[in-house]
Amino acid sequence: MADVVVVFDFDRTLIDDDSDNWVVTQMGLTHLFNQLRSTLPWNSLMDRMMKELHSQGKTVEDIANCLRQCPLDSHVAAAIKSAHSLGCDLKIVSDANQFYIETIMEHHGLLGCFSEIYTNPTYVDEQGRLRILPYHDSTLSHYGCNLCPSNLCKGFVLDHVCTSFGCGKRRFIYLGDGRGDFCPTLKLQDCDFVMPRKNYPLWDRICSNPMLIKAKVHEWSSAEELKKILLHLIGAISIKEDVDSTVSSQPNSSECRSQTMPVYS
Ligand SMILES: [Mg+2]
Ligand SMILES: [Zn+2]
Repeated sequence: MADVVVVFDFDRTLIDDDSDNWVVTQMGLTHLFNQLRSTLPWNSLMDRMMKELHSQGKTVEDIANCLRQCPLDSHVAAAIKSAHSLGCDLKIVSDANQFYIETIMEHHGLLGCFSEIYTNPTYVDEQGRLRILPYHDSTLSHYGCNLCPSNLCKGFVLDHVCTSFGCGKRRFIYLGDGRGDFCPTLKLQDCDFVMPRKNYPLWDRICSNPMLIKAKVHEWSSAEELKKILLHLIGAISIKEDVDSTVSSQPNSSECRSQTMPVYS
């Protein structure tokens, strides 16, 4: 069971909103955001928004309070808690940032369910301003993934997660909605699963490039569906692995198996 790694995108996957947009709209930055949108990369633009809040006298605690108002569906919370208690290894990979994600997940009592959060790092500087940095430092930003923004390649992160386990036995379930989730989806193997949010950019890309996808695809629309499908897949993987380990203990049983398994539809 510990062989299942569930990787979640954050914005519009774990939460229904986009956390950057949430802070911008809730804290009255829409006008400035629209003025600067075309002049800065997203990651730098968000750091610039934090500068603006600081100059208006808004504190990091004000930002945290704003984030705590951001809704998180109870089905998503239940799915996270169940997957964690079933022994899955849960991770987040997100182009939001460390402060936003940790604040929201902590507020909902979910932060401890995740073994790792890969996202743009943050810190509070000596003036008390929240700073948002790119995940990849400037030397890495030119290694050339044309699918991802230069500050974060989620496929690079997924490769890193795969190699950190050091063997092929892990099964991945990847959940996401956005354009940036396509690169890691291409890294998944035929024993893995991708759960794209239906009618969102990741789903569109998967539908237009079905031959490029090795993983089994299970779309979802609502938080309720996300929970149902995720827990079904986890259950199906664990049943299959129990059967495999009792039926045979052949040396190649650690390899990816491509035959069909019972899946939720
Ligand atoms: Mg997203
Ligand atoms: Zn990439």
